[in-house]
Amino acid sequence: MADTLEARVRDVQDRIASGARAVGRQASEITTIVVTKFHPAELVRDLYSLGIRHVGENRHQEAVAKHGELAELDLTWHFIGQLQSNKARAVADYARVIHSVDRPSLVEALAKQERVVDIFLEINLTDVPGRGGVLPADLESLCELALESPVLNLRGVMAVAPVDEEPSRAFDRVLNYAARVRALAPQAQDLSIGMSGDFEAAIAAGATHLRIGTAITGKRPAGT
Ligand SMILES: *Cc1c(COP(=O)(O)O)cnc(C)c1O
Repeated sequence: MADTLEARVRDVQDRIASGARAVGRQASEITTIVVTKFHPAELVRDLYSLGIRHVGENRHQEAVAKHGELAELDLTWHFIGQLQSNKARAVADYARVIHSVDRPSLVEALAKQERVVDIFLEINLTDVPGRGGVLPADLESLCELALESPVLNLRGVMAVAPVDEEPSRAFDRVLNYAARVRALAPQAQDLSIGMSGDFEAAIAAGATHLRIGTAITGKRPAGT
């Protein structure tokens, strides 16, 4: 792995560009979110000075603190972690996009606040119900509920490829679920798939949003 933050940012950007070119896509259609969870606000500031404008966080306490410290920077904050309904309003205060909408109680909580927020429906690709994400069987009803709210702007679906499955196969399944959502919500064209270990496969599958942590930030601090 390249040994400075700047080198890692440029390396990932180059790989995204060549991955896109390889499948006839434009890198400009792809939003790269740098996942800064467990890293200090200072790292986010350094990323900003390297041109990064989208960052992702997965814990409210940590995210709200960093957002507060960096409020003057023109950053788009993405919330990507499991979200308790009682924190939904607070998260929607600083996150413009929430990628982890996965159950009716969360949709209802987000619908009660006043800000328009972009959302992705997170799909659980494992057989373990406790994992984040809606089970595929419940996808349509969750989608219909989200569409009832004028403050929820449904962008598409999000998923994390299971560790024990070939990413390209997992992403094929996601495409199938994405089509089911688009049948109800034709505007919901976006696909939030692809992390450090699988973003090239995600680009080939049509990812519009990559959530990349360690390939850019380096190892997360211990205890994570
Ligand atoms: C941590 C995290 C990522 C980034 O993972 P890396 O493997 O470090 O790129 C992406 N998506 C979600 C939901 C995460 O929690």
